[in-house]
Amino acid sequence: MVVVATGFSYLIEPIIAPSNLSLVYLTAVLFSALRYGLWPSIMAATLGVLVWNYLFLPPKYSMTIDNPQDVLALLLFLIVSLVVSNLAALKLRQSRAIAARAKTTTQLYLFSQEIAVAGSLKDLPPIITRTIGAMLNCEALLLLRVGNGLELSAGYPQKRELDAVELSLAQAAGNGTPGSLAGRLLFMPLRSQRGIIGVLGVDRSLSQSLLPDEERLLSILVDQTAVAIERTQLAETIDLARLEAETERLRSAMLTSISHDLRTPLTTIMAAHSMLRSLGVSCDPATRRELFERAEDEAERLDRFIGNLIDMTQLESGKMKVKLGPIEVGDAVESALARADHLVVRHTVAVDLPPDLPMVMADFMLLEQVLFNLIDNAVKYAPQDTTVGIFANMDDDSVVIGVADQGDGIPSDATETIFDKFARVKFEDRQRPGTGLGLAICRGFLQAMGGTITAGNRQDRSGALFLIRLAISNV
Ligand code: ADP
Repeated sequence: MVVVATGFSYLIEPIIAPSNLSLVYLTAVLFSALRYGLWPSIMAATLGVLVWNYLFLPPKYSMTIDNPQDVLALLLFLIVSLVVSNLAALKLRQSRAIAARAKTTTQLYLFSQEIAVAGSLKDLPPIITRTIGAMLNCEALLLLRVGNGLELSAGYPQKRELDAVELSLAQAAGNGTPGSLAGRLLFMPLRSQRGIIGVLGVDRSLSQSLLPDEERLLSILVDQTAVAIERTQLAETIDLARLEAETERLRSAMLTSISHDLRTPLTTIMAAHSMLRSLGVSCDPATRRELFERAEDEAERLDRFIGNLIDMTQLESGKMKVKLGPIEVGDAVESALARADHLVVRHTVAVDLPPDLPMVMADFMLLEQVLFNLIDNAVKYAPQDTTVGIFANMDDDSVVIGVADQGDGIPSDATETIFDKFARVKFEDRQRPGTGLGLAICRGFLQAMGGTITAGNRQDRSGALFLIRLAISNV
C-alpha cells in the first residue's frame, strides 16, 4: 500500500504541496486497516510517515524537517492514521464476526435438517458423524451408552477401533469429564436430561487445531446431537411400549373371547348330555330331539369358532395356500348358503345374480368362507324375519358382490375398525356369540385373493352392506 501511495505521490508531486501528500498516505493506511486490520495499518502509517518525510518533505532525501508547519502536518497525520486504523479495524472485526455467525447458523441449520431426516436410532449416528466430520473437516466418532459401557456406533470417514488411550479418554468423557489428547483428539460427553447418553469424539489431526468459532460450533453440535439421540431413543421406547400394550390388548381380548366362546357351547352340550342321561328312556321323543339338536348346534358353533381360529393362525403365519382360479359366483353363494342353512331358519335370503355375470379369479374355499361369515353376521346382527340380500354386478374389470341386511347397520366411525381382530362394535354385540374374528378373516382372505372388502350402510333403508370386489377371470 505504501509503495503504491509513493508511486502515486511522485506522479502528483509537481502539482501539489508536499505537506498535502499526507492524504495519499492516509488513504494507504485506510485501505490497510480495512483489508488487513489494526496492526498492518499501524505499520503502514509508520512506514508512510518515514517515506513521506524522506522523499517529499523538504529538505528532500533526509529525515530532518525544515518547516515547523510540516512537523504539525506529520503529527496530525499520525493521529488521524491511528483513529482511522482503529475504526476501520473494528469494522473489519465486526463484519468478520457477522460472517462467521452467519456461517455457523447455516451449518447448524444444515445439521438440524440432516438429523431431522433420520427416522430411527439406527440411521442417526452415521448422519451425525458424517455431518460433523464434513463440517469441521475432521475425524468424528460417536459412542453411545449401552448398559454401563460405551459402544462405538459410527465414525467418519470410517468406523474404526479406538486404541487404549482413546478408549480411556472416551470413558472419562462418558463419566462427565471432557478430555483431549495432545490437543489432537477431543472427547465430549453428550448430556441429556437422563444423564450422559454417549460421547462424541473429534480428531483434529486432519485439520490441525480448531478455530475458536469452530469450537463454539462444535459445542452446539454436541448439544444438538444429544437432543436428537435422546429424542429418537424416547420415540423408540414409546413405540415399543405402544406395541407391547397393543399385543397385550389383543392377547387379553383373545383370551376373553376364547374362554367365553369355548365355554358357552360346551356348557350347553354338557347340560343337554347330562339331561339325556338322567332322563334315560323316560325322556319323550320331542324333548330328546330338541336336546340333541341343541347339542348339535352348539357343537357346530364350536367347530366354526375353532375353524376361525385355525384360519386366522394360518393367515398370520403366511402358511395359507391360495388356489386362484375362475370361480362361478353363483356356485360359491349356493355352497355358502347350504352351509349356513341351519343358521338362516328365521330369516329370508334373497339372491339376485345377473345371468351373464362373468367368472371371478378366486379360491373357492376362501370365497365360500367369506360369504359364510357375512351371512352369519347378517343373521346375527339383523332381527328375525328380515331379509338378507345377496347380489352381484359387473364393474369395469371386476365383479362386486354385496351382502346386505336389514339390521341397525354399522356406526359410521366403525366401518374400518370392524375388520380388526377381536373388534366388536357395540356392547350388545358382546352378548351375542362371536369372536370378532369373522371380518378379520374375510379381509385376510380377500387380500390373499387380490380382492377387497369394505363395510358400509345401505342407502335405501337401515342395514349393513358389505361389498366384495374381485377381478374378472379372463381364463
Ligand atoms: P363377530 O361377529 O364374531 O363379533 P366379526 O369380525 O364378524 O366378529 O364382526 C365384528 C363386529 O362387527 C361385530 O361384533 C359387530 O359389532 C359388527 N358387525 C359385523 N357384521 C355386522 C352387521 N351385519 N351389522 C351390524 N354390525 C355388524
